[in-house]
Amino acid sequence: MEKAFSKNLINIEPYVAGEQPRSADIIKLNANENPYPPSPEVHKAIAAFNADGLRLYPPMDAAPLRQAAADFYGLDRSCVFAGNGSDDVLAAAFRAFFNSDKPILYPDITYSFYPVWCELLKIPFRTIPVDEGFNVNVEDYYTDNGGVVLPNPNAPTTIGLGRDRIEELIKHNRESVVIIDEAYADFSGVSCVPLIKKYDNLVVTQTFSKSRALAGMRVAIALADPYLISYLDAVKDSYNSYPMDAVSICAGTAAMRDREYFEATCGKIVATRQRVTKRLRELGFILPDSSANFLFATHPDHTAREIFSYLRENGIYVRYFSKPRIDNHLRITVGTDEQMDKLLELLEKLINK
Ligand SMILES: *Cc1c(COP(=O)(O)O)cnc(C)c1O
Repeated sequence: MEKAFSKNLINIEPYVAGEQPRSADIIKLNANENPYPPSPEVHKAIAAFNADGLRLYPPMDAAPLRQAAADFYGLDRSCVFAGNGSDDVLAAAFRAFFNSDKPILYPDITYSFYPVWCELLKIPFRTIPVDEGFNVNVEDYYTDNGGVVLPNPNAPTTIGLGRDRIEELIKHNRESVVIIDEAYADFSGVSCVPLIKKYDNLVVTQTFSKSRALAGMRVAIALADPYLISYLDAVKDSYNSYPMDAVSICAGTAAMRDREYFEATCGKIVATRQRVTKRLRELGFILPDSSANFLFATHPDHTAREIFSYLRENGIYVRYFSKPRIDNHLRITVGTDEQMDKLLELLEKLINK
């Protein structure tokens, strides 16, 4: 029965995350997590962490982490914001920057958290269709708007745009804030961080959940002109002045400072991705060249739903979205070589049956 006060309750369809398996034997390729552990420096930092310090509030503004990110990119610390995963950082950015009556723009096929935040924060939005090959054409965004948000590479399509394309997008949108969500940029070799010195309406967000193997910790940053960063801080200070806890700041800082390990693991994942892409194509799969740590594949003879169920029954979880335009595609995270060999072996069995 409808309750009398139900009209005052939020009407929202929440984001659905990839399934979390109960058994450790499952090969989990459904949330784009890193198959390798975080840097040994993270292990050391956590082991050395003195729990006595937890009686105090964490460092104001996650200062050590912001400094480490600034050093990594050769920026001033005033260009860096930090939060609890990019979902937290992006939510703050939507609140801070998308306050127009005009709709914000993002692709019809993209990260499915964006519509959730728009509903939650009552931000008007308009989706721009990607083309038949799932490509984003930046010219489609040269129109009046209240802001733009775009993952580069895009998810779940895996397709990345060159920095020159993104620069054109920013140049044609100088009257609104453009957020480039670089959740997967470390696997593409293309980052728009260098553009923040040139364009004061650009915000780049990055997460530690994928390329830095810290999904369990919730760490992310935003990089932008200090003017925009001050607005992110104002939003943060308006609902939770200390969003990041001391342990996350400590681990995140250690991860950011170990460039060598970071580059080595990203390199391994990219090498596995290239090998698996080639083999999947030999098996008849159709997939774009991935710029991310996952693949987006379809097969002419087997439905995505069928392959999804078959893999699941055989202990491998991949992601299937029953959404318009992509309901015959699978999103497959690039795991270790060993995990991917098991995946390929199962797929070979299915395809050659
Ligand atoms: C995974 C992901 C994020 C958010 O990751 P967090 O774990 O919240 O940091 C943001 N954007 C895209 C496109 C993602 O795929």
